Amino acid sequence: MQVKSFEEYQQAYSLSVEQPEQFWEGIANNFLWKKKWDKVLDWNFKEPKIKWFEGAKLNITENCLDRHLEKNGDTTAIIWEPNDPTEHHRILTYKQLHTKVCQFANVLKNNGAKKGDRICIYMPMVPELAIAVLACARIGAIHSVVFGGFSAQSIADRIKDAECNIVITADGGLRGTKEVPLKSIIDDALVQCPSIKKVIVLTRTRTPVSMIKGRDVWWEDEVKKVETQGNPDCPAEEMDAEDMLFILYTSGSTGKPKGVVHTCGGYMVYTGYTFSNAFQYQPGEVYFCTADIGWITGHSYIAYGPLTQGATSVMFEGIPTFPNAGRLWDIVEKFKVNILYTAPTAIRSLMSFGDDVVKGRDFSSLKKLGSVGEPINEEAWHWFDEKIGQGKCPIVDTWWQTETGGFMISPIAGVTPTKPGYATLPLPGVQPVLVDENGKVIEGNGVSGNLCIKFPWPGMLRTTYGDHERCRTTYFATYENLYFTGDGCLRDEDGYYRITGRVDDVLNVSGHRIGTAEVENAINMHSTVVESAVIGYPHDIKGQGVYAFVVCPNQHGDPELTRKDIMMTVARIIGAIAKPDKIQFVTGLPKTRSGKIMRRILRKIAEGDISNLGDTSTLLDPAVVEEIKAGAL
Ligand code: ATP
Ligand code: MG
Repeated sequence: MQVKSFEEYQQAYSLSVEQPEQFWEGIANNFLWKKKWDKVLDWNFKEPKIKWFEGAKLNITENCLDRHLEKNGDTTAIIWEPNDPTEHHRILTYKQLHTKVCQFANVLKNNGAKKGDRICIYMPMVPELAIAVLACARIGAIHSVVFGGFSAQSIADRIKDAECNIVITADGGLRGTKEVPLKSIIDDALVQCPSIKKVIVLTRTRTPVSMIKGRDVWWEDEVKKVETQGNPDCPAEEMDAEDMLFILYTSGSTGKPKGVVHTCGGYMVYTGYTFSNAFQYQPGEVYFCTADIGWITGHSYIAYGPLTQGATSVMFEGIPTFPNAGRLWDIVEKFKVNILYTAPTAIRSLMSFGDDVVKGRDFSSLKKLGSVGEPINEEAWHWFDEKIGQGKCPIVDTWWQTETGGFMISPIAGVTPTKPGYATLPLPGVQPVLVDENGKVIEGNGVSGNLCIKFPWPGMLRTTYGDHERCRTTYFATYENLYFTGDGCLRDEDGYYRITGRVDDVLNVSGHRIGTAEVENAINMHSTVVESAVIGYPHDIKGQGVYAFVVCPNQHGDPELTRKDIMMTVARIIGAIAKPDKIQFVTGLPKTRSGKIMRRILRKIAEGDISNLGDTSTLLDPAVVEEIKAGAL
């Protein structure tokens, strides 16, 4: 499935456009099917209807587990690093993971779970989270993982939307110095959720919890029961390629969360293929993705993608800054990580601690680096490249979305020449187009527009749970016959793609269209700036003015001078037109728990409309909003 040269990439790409069914059939043949498909693809973007590998039967967990057992059963599947570095790490081989998944699948069955049920998983980043996810897939239940930091209200909304009947959780979770009382948060959520019949609780923190008779059971007790019943195996449920595999609610940076639905066959093929190809994964390599399984990145590139490829994956319970800002680098050294996949927000935050933290470290194991989540600013790209990659690791800047299931536009490590800030070129099978506001396709290079995809790929969403019309209007109605990503993008003279941010993040200053990411990039170049968020606000003369929220903890001297320096920096890099009209220094930005800036809140503050900021419960730290409100200019 891997292309080994740029020519091979170009050949694969041409085939994928000219004969997509033949191309994907070739890729799909690398997986284990109980029965192969009758038809590769059936689609229209009108309804939309997207069906891949119709008629095929499979179980994704046989691809993640069973098929590795014979030859690679003793290969490490998961290396788990706990939050507290003094606690021992854990290793699970493919054999052990298989056993544990089968056991827990039987636990689920004993507790009434059946194929098609929706099961909510609200857990810390422990191996049992991966086990729970795979156990659901084993029996054909649809998992809905809710990141282990969301509030009771957010969980309740998601459980109600999906009508889940079981919750899998833990007594508590550890993140840095914080202990999150998961079970108690679930108890609060369940007051509103009569559909839940069982709660399975893993022991992690030994926090006292209230266990409700008949409803709440302990994970460990249930596993013991299965052991004494003596049925260690759990045959994998036979699934149709288009049966639902999971629901994942988007993070909500652009409004009410949507239950994005992915199905078994296409998602498996797409995540396995993109993982293998983009990272050029070689057997034996140690891969470390710093995301949480609660996000799509963790679903596709900690759980399913790497496991289908028999990879060894590091799973980390904690946060990059605990017990200090060297933690990720400790992990890289400890497990001799070869591939490190992280997010620009983490890179920028670690950069701000200075070079002492990375000096003298042994990064020699690293071969490939990856980035995801938002456009990576050039300064962060170079720091990642030089300080971490030692100038020898290709940076795979993967552009994709919850809705796309897997990487869409991304370099292939060591094959695609990279450019700082660019996601580079579409992977085989992905047909991006740029359109103007009227939906007219913009041809040629050196252009920018709204990023759409004009042909289906196996990993794309099929619907939004319980509301197909919402899926249609959100993604397929803006432009006829196109999937609309919501992202702005430029295609440079070489045909390389650079994501400029959400299209609602484009400013129109005196008739000039300026991407907020572009301005942020320039501001972040200033030596004392850690990060920034740029928002447009109504301006009498310019139409829109530029409002910058800037995190600048180490500035010395006169803030007024720093402000002017930042203005100068922006003027130098983009032009005077992009100079911020207002710069507010803040200690932090309002971020979703996946690290995305919640721009709708900043927009309201910039517009001076702070009466109703909408739902802020999904924020990592709601307190920063109060501070920003108080200091608004
Ligand atoms: P919501 O859809 O609820 O607002 P979200 O879009 O933040 O949430 P995700 O699906 O996790 O949730 O994020 C996808 C978005 O992240 C993309 O649309 C894009 O804006 C941004 N993104 C992801 N990876 C990259 C990247 N490598 N370069 C630029 N932007 C990226
Ligand atoms: Mg989105």
